[in-house]
Amino acid sequence: MNTKKSMLVWFRNNLRTEDNITLARAVEQDAPLIPLFIFDEKRDCGSASRLWLYHALKSFERELFRLGTRLIFLKGDSRIILARLASETGAKALYWDRSYEPYQKEQDQLIQKDLEGWGIRCESFNDTLLFDPAQIRTRQGTPFKVFTAFWNHCTSLPEPMLPVRAPQRLSGPAKWPQSKRLEDFGLRDKARWSNKVEAFWEPGNVDVRKNWRKFLKEKLENYSHDRDRPALEGTSRLSPYLHFGEISVRSIWHEMRQYMVQHRRAGIFREAETFLRQIVWREFAHYFLFHFPETIEHPFRKEFEKFHWKKNSALLCAWRKGKTGYPIVDAGMRELWATGWMHNRVRMIVASFLVKDLLQPWQEGAQWFLETLVDADVANNVFGWQWTAGCGADAAPYFRIFNPILQGEKFDSRGDYVRRWVPELSKLPDRFIHKPWQASPEILAKAGIRLGKDYPDPVVDHHQARNRALFNYARMKK
Ligand SMILES: Cc1cc2nc3c(=O)[nH]c(=O)nc-3n(C[C@H](O)[C@H](O)[C@H](O)COP(=O)(O)OP(=O)(O)OC[C@H]3O[C@@H](n4cnc5c(N)ncnc54)[C@H](O)[C@@H]3O)c2cc1C
Repeated sequence: MNTKKSMLVWFRNNLRTEDNITLARAVEQDAPLIPLFIFDEKRDCGSASRLWLYHALKSFERELFRLGTRLIFLKGDSRIILARLASETGAKALYWDRSYEPYQKEQDQLIQKDLEGWGIRCESFNDTLLFDPAQIRTRQGTPFKVFTAFWNHCTSLPEPMLPVRAPQRLSGPAKWPQSKRLEDFGLRDKARWSNKVEAFWEPGNVDVRKNWRKFLKEKLENYSHDRDRPALEGTSRLSPYLHFGEISVRSIWHEMRQYMVQHRRAGIFREAETFLRQIVWREFAHYFLFHFPETIEHPFRKEFEKFHWKKNSALLCAWRKGKTGYPIVDAGMRELWATGWMHNRVRMIVASFLVKDLLQPWQEGAQWFLETLVDADVANNVFGWQWTAGCGADAAPYFRIFNPILQGEKFDSRGDYVRRWVPELSKLPDRFIHKPWQASPEILAKAGIRLGKDYPDPVVDHHQARNRALFNYARMKK
């Protein structure tokens, strides 16, 4: 039992003890620590994310318990709660992991002002990103807007800080503040659709390290090819763990660098660099939201505010349910609904289809992804949607409209991915799997499909839809 003045350690997006600078710096202060998590309903996340958060917190609580301490659970407005807690515990300091999201950034400033006003020391640390976005600028002092320039800059900087070890033991205060139970947050509501995603994932950072090593050993070698093939498990599937900070991005970076040194072969070097570029895309998306917070709702390229969307709830509903009649789109949307995750290539295809073929606002798609993805992440999501819609930074040009048939034929050439998620098409021959409407009545009958009944007719004609999208784009540019 420790009678010294305690410190509050507020965990948010970094639910781990390994390479947690916030925790490591707090331990150095030699004070009893009160680890805490606040569930703020104003910052509530989507259903799949909530479920993930439940498991991440459970696992983190167990980890802290092993180190001899507890995790205090609180619910409500962080500013009010921290003020109350500081006064109740007489804490001398508050440490937290910095968040770069617009709402949290603003709130953090207010919290710091309140607590420092009462003589409580406040410090925050970057545990989420490789580099602090506030420190990175072009030579002209402006934020980077082009990925390649950002990548070149980041890779010319001194390496990110080396990971720090988890503490051996943590000491708590003589008297603990009151805590809610994790179950009181209602994150794992039994009735929710999202519970079924548990069958596909094992949240909790014990598993993630195992998966990560398996990826390095077995998948990295073919990463640049396999990462575009949705039927293969060719990517790391780290995204939800990175989002909740169950694994540290600095560890990923350094372990990959080490791997490159140990396996000095041009092939591995290339693959590893392709992977690290994805990690830096994540960095860029967070950096971008930090410097351009308005892009959370508004297009980065202002002219897109005038774009003529054709809002249509029936089309939006068909897209959400995976009933558009375009097999690769439907497979992606059904994978999302079943597992809370979707392959990156397919995210681009379904996003392009929604905003360009169906002319629905990108914000609608982003909202659905936030609700259904286990890795739902405001920065990556908004960036991905604006990139696909052509209105973001360094975005795909608007006129590059993905053709869902050609994309399917190129990246799922044998239709394995479609057959898995759209089983009603499973008996179709490969050559029609991405365009069932071109199959003859005999072939359809043999495959047991009645188009329009067992599987929908296409909700739009892609070629006409493409022309309509380009027309709307030209109209916006006038
Ligand atoms: C429309 C759209 C929406 C998206 N929404 C999200 C989201 O909400 N949350 C999310 O984490 N990612 C999002 N992404 C990015 C990407 O699809 C996922 O990060 C990736 O599919 C995760 O799979 P993985 O971990 O196996 O990736 P890997 O290929 O193994 O990559 C490793 C890590 O790099 C990062 N990464 C990879 N690709 C990207 C990218 N294009 N942009 C930013 N970071 C990337 C992720 O953290 C990922 O875990 C979105 C992409 C698009 C096109």
